[in-house]
Amino acid sequence: MQQELLIILVVIWLGLSVGSMMLFQRGKDAARKRKLWPKYTIFSNTVLAAFIVYMQPPLPMLIGLLVFMIPLTLLTIRSTKFCDACGNASRSPFFMKPPTACSHCKKPLK
Ligand SMILES: [Zn+2]
Repeated sequence: MQQELLIILVVIWLGLSVGSMMLFQRGKDAARKRKLWPKYTIFSNTVLAAFIVYMQPPLPMLIGLLVFMIPLTLLTIRSTKFCDACGNASRSPFFMKPPTACSHCKKPLK
């Protein structure tokens, strides 16, 4: 039972990684990517949180990790922008201010 849960989590995680590549690395539909990105990020971090709970770390560490993940999730969503011109994702490094220009075609981002 415990092991099955771990396999399910790994399968979901792999699915999310492949899905992310298909959805956000390919294609030019920036509007659709922009709409899906927060949902995807929240869902994948929820899976990661489930994984952490499954590993059963000591309680203070568990709470610390889960609390840490909330701002991390919000910052990940905020620091990723999708370019209308080329459809590529631009991420700002080290969770600084959101990028203002596309890292691929240098056009300004909204
Ligand atoms: Zn671009």
